[in-house]
Amino acid sequence: MSDSKTETALPVIVPRAEHDISRAQIAKTALKVLYRLRAADYEAYLVGGGVRDLLLGLAPKDFDVATDAAPEQVRSVFGNCRLIGRRFRLAHVYFGREIVEVATFRAGPSADEDEADHLQADGLLLRDNVYGTLEDDAFRRDFTVNALYYNIRDFGIYDYVGGLDDLHAGLLRMIGEPAVRYREDPVRMLRAARFAAKLDFSIEPATAAPIATLGHLLHDVPPARLFDESLKLFLGGHAAASYRVLRQYDLFGRLFPAAAAQVEAEGEAGVSHRLLHQALENTDARLALDRPVTPTFLFAALAYPALRAELDGCPLEAATPEQVLQAGDRALDALVERVALPRRYRAPLQEIWQLQPRFGQRNGKRALRLLAQPRFRAAYDFLLLRAGAGEADPALADWWTEIQQADAERQQGMLAAATGEGGNRNGRRRRRRRRSSRAAGGESA
Ligand code: ATP
Ligand code: MG
Repeated sequence: MSDSKTETALPVIVPRAEHDISRAQIAKTALKVLYRLRAADYEAYLVGGGVRDLLLGLAPKDFDVATDAAPEQVRSVFGNCRLIGRRFRLAHVYFGREIVEVATFRAGPSADEDEADHLQADGLLLRDNVYGTLEDDAFRRDFTVNALYYNIRDFGIYDYVGGLDDLHAGLLRMIGEPAVRYREDPVRMLRAARFAAKLDFSIEPATAAPIATLGHLLHDVPPARLFDESLKLFLGGHAAASYRVLRQYDLFGRLFPAAAAQVEAEGEAGVSHRLLHQALENTDARLALDRPVTPTFLFAALAYPALRAELDGCPLEAATPEQVLQAGDRALDALVERVALPRRYRAPLQEIWQLQPRFGQRNGKRALRLLAQPRFRAAYDFLLLRAGAGEADPALADWWTEIQQADAERQQGMLAAATGEGGNRNGRRRRRRRRSSRAAGGESA
């Protein structure tokens, strides 16, 4: 199919009567945009994940629109429109809080030899704002199943790249020469893993092959973009599958080198892998139930193997709060060099780790104080993960599960019993803690 690129190719067109996409399945806002562009005599298509997912019977996350109208022309059609982006100049059309993204047809970097100066010496794509035809636009996209167009004029599906065949075969195939396309934009390797996981597709062999040798190119991708991509991989409802596919293609370590090394060192039966796997399964399950998920908790899990490595075999319960804090800082400092977790997530994330040793202290007031912590729930969820992974005592996790559900009287009984059991040890801790808090409050610093 990439051979046909030099000449003008005719698309395969599937007419309305022969496919299942109906306008009822398309977001009203996206439809409005398509109709308005059509009324202004522009071409307008739905493209990308929206078309792909509808054809697969999945609920699309969003609908992207492609048009032959230049961004400024799009803006003049819509009052509620802003142009964004430098590398990709896109129009955002606003409907209240909803945004429909409208992209002008663009040519890929290799469409014309004169455009070779868009590529850095190593093949990295710097900008691609060269407008083109619908056909150009199809060939500059990443995978064939992402280059299917739904035409608002005749409601047909337009396919220049064999995307429909691949869609039916469950194949993720790069358009053009895979190695060249990965060099242009190494994030396409992560996208391959993400779509394989999300769609349960296989990566076509020639598309998969270069990943083994080009994975290192991800080191040159800005960490902020890798953070965005991590969220799509792990907060998109297919985190466990993404983790599996990323590991399969040796890409997990390109994002999280310390975690990958620790998982490797411990093996799949080790705490790190088990905790990660369970955290990601839980994330998927929560999203499936429309329950909230946070980058804080996700990254507390993703970075936990690195924390374990930093603690160097010392169990969390045996480390001082300072040691956990410092080891956590080292783990996160290294992490953000690759994946730019925004600073605001750090304190709450550290708190989830810091609270872990405190679950061992179950005597009266301490337990109640911990229960009242704003971060208790997240820390407790993390304790469950650690118990499931074989790191924390399952009986301890059960105790905290029970005390949350217990009525006041039962709580008192549990607290009294726990105080009796662990009174000695906790008593000693309390004395030490008092001394150190006096020291901290003093003027020695
Ligand atoms: P989803 O929204 O479900 O994650 P999507 O396929 O819509 O999947 P987007 O990131 O929203 O993915 O991008 C929309 C479309 O833009 C893609 O389907 C693809 O055609 C094109 N595209 C996005 N990123 C790239 C890229 N890095 N290289 C080439 N084409 C891309
Ligand atoms: Mg999309």
